[in-house]
Amino acid sequence: MQSSHPAGAPPSFDAINVPVHRASTILFPSTDAFLNRRERLFDGYSYGLYGTPTTRALESEIAKIEGGVRSVVVPSGLAAITHGLMAVCKSGDHVLAADCIYGSSRTFLLQVMRTFGVTVEFFPADAGSIAALLRPGTAAVLLESPGYYTMEIQDIAPIAEEAHRAGARVLIDNTWGFGASRMFEHGVDMCCTALSKYASGHADLCMGSITVADEGLFRRIKAFVASVGSGVSSDDAYMVLRGLSTLDTRLAEHARRGLVLSDWLQQQGCVDRVLNPALPGDPHHARFARYFDAGNGLVSVLFRKPTREALTPMLDGFRRFRIGASWGSSHSLVSLAEPAAARSCSHWAAGDYVVRFHMGLEPMDQLLADLHDGVQRLESAR
Ligand SMILES: *Cc1c(COP(=O)(O)O)cnc(C)c1O
Repeated sequence: MQSSHPAGAPPSFDAINVPVHRASTILFPSTDAFLNRRERLFDGYSYGLYGTPTTRALESEIAKIEGGVRSVVVPSGLAAITHGLMAVCKSGDHVLAADCIYGSSRTFLLQVMRTFGVTVEFFPADAGSIAALLRPGTAAVLLESPGYYTMEIQDIAPIAEEAHRAGARVLIDNTWGFGASRMFEHGVDMCCTALSKYASGHADLCMGSITVADEGLFRRIKAFVASVGSGVSSDDAYMVLRGLSTLDTRLAEHARRGLVLSDWLQQQGCVDRVLNPALPGDPHHARFARYFDAGNGLVSVLFRKPTREALTPMLDGFRRFRIGASWGSSHSLVSLAEPAAARSCSHWAAGDYVVRFHMGLEPMDQLLADLHDGVQRLESAR
C-alpha cells in the first residue's frame, strides 16, 4: 500500500531552517532496497535511530566547526567520550588519560573500561610528553584541555606525535574549545564534544558529538554507535542547529565577560589564584595561544581559604549565579569541586575546593553586584 501523505514539503515551501524529521520507520521503495538497507548506514537513511536529515544536517555543521570531515552525534557529551573510546579499544589494550579529565569520563575508565579488561593509567594534567608511559598495547590517549575545573593545558601536538609513533589514537574532550580550536591540525584523531554546553547554548538538552578527519575511522565509530543502539532525536538535533546559528556571537561575548570576571577577581584580597588560560599571566597562556583562538565564560578560582565551610555561605547567597552543573548557556552558574578527590598524579591538597563560575548573558552590572556581595560574605565568614 502506498503512503497517501508523502513526508516531503511541497516545492513552493522553502523554509530557511532544516525541518525536524521525526522518524522510527523509514520507507523503502522495494524488497531489494529493504534487504540491502545496511548499505545506507553511513550516508543514507534506513531507520530513525541511525540518522534523519535533521541529525545529518547537524553532524555536517559540527564537522565543519571542529575542522573535521565527519561527525556522529550521540545522546550526551559523556556518551561522546565513552563511545569514542569503546570504538577504538578492545580487551587487553592500554589507555592513557590526562589526570584532569571530566569526572564521569574518569569513572567510566576506572569502573567500566577496567571491567572489560582495559588497563588505564593517568598522566599529569600539564604534560608536555607522555613518551615514558606509551606501550605497544596503548590504543588510546585521552586529552582534555583545559582540564576540568583546574584548567591545565596539555602540549597537544607533541603528545599526539608520540602517541601516533606508538600506534595509539588521540582523543580530546574538546567541550571547552568548541568553536575556538582546530584540533585536527595538531594531530588529534577524535574530538569528543559535549554539545550540551555552548553548541546548544540554552541549558535545555544533552547531546554530544564525535568528530574525525578520517573516513575509515568515521565508519568504525558510526558502526559502533549504531550497534550499541545510541542515537539522538531530531527535535534535539534541531535545537542544537538553532543554537549554532548564534554560536560565534555568544562565544565572543562569553569570552569578553570571562576576562572581565577574571580581572575583577584578581583584584580581590580573598582570591589566591584565578585559573583562566585566556589571561595573559596564566601559566598555561602560551599553550592556550597555540591551541585556541579564544577563551569563554568559564573561570575557575582558588580562594585563599578554599574550604567547603568557608565557601558555602558565599555560594548559597548568590542570586544571579545559581548553583548547578552544565555550563555554556545564557545563565550564570557557580559550582565547586575538590580536585584532590579525582586526581592521581597532580598536587592538590585534600579539602581544597576550586570554585568555578560561568559568566552568562544577564545584565553585567547585576552579575558584578552579585559577585561583590558574595565576596563580602566570604570575607565575613572567616
Ligand atoms: C559537560 C561536560 C561533559 C559531559 O557532557 P554531558 O552532555 O553533560 O554528558 C564532558 N566533558 C566536559 C569537559 C564537560 O564540560
